[in-house]
Amino acid sequence: MVAARIPYGPERREQMADYSLRRYGERSADLMPHAIVVHFTESPDDPWVTINFFAGNQPNAGTLPGVCTHFLIDKVGTIYDLVATDTRCRHAVGLNHVALGIEVVQSTEGHSSHWADDQILARQPQMDALIALIGQLQQQFSIPTDRVQGHGTADTDPEFKDLTGMRNDHTDIGPDAVAEIRRRLEATP
Ligand SMILES: [Zn+2]
Repeated sequence: MVAARIPYGPERREQMADYSLRRYGERSADLMPHAIVVHFTESPDDPWVTINFFAGNQPNAGTLPGVCTHFLIDKVGTIYDLVATDTRCRHAVGLNHVALGIEVVQSTEGHSSHWADDQILARQPQMDALIALIGQLQQQFSIPTDRVQGHGTADTDPEFKDLTGMRNDHTDIGPDAVAEIRRRLEATP
């Protein structure tokens, strides 16, 4: 695990707390994880391009805080630790109040997101790291396998909530990939 904590000071925490009030009805930036949402980055292979983007805290859809993730896994399976697990990150509409985020480095390269999902599933070092990390987080926070989601299945989670009526419009890590990730988690002792 590579230490790669992004700046997350009082100002960004306040922005996350305000976001949480608008979306979830409670003003907090604290996280007690009940779920995990897996994403792919749609970025170049260099993980630092994505890490530096998250660190920049740029507005997303016109509002702050910027998007981020707790962990990122590059194509050779190195895991980067970006944000503490007790702090909320803005990574999936409807679930940021309960879910950890894991970004997997992959881009669609002009193909579908399903194609990109399949590239990840076939890349052994990256998948091994993903399954190991999820397994460890499940154990640490007692998260059941059916609460491991992809961004493409986040709307179906039992704790999905958004007071503004928004739904996810991202399809990264769709239902087929989620089913395969869950299958591998169940097959791993
Ligand atoms: Zn995503």
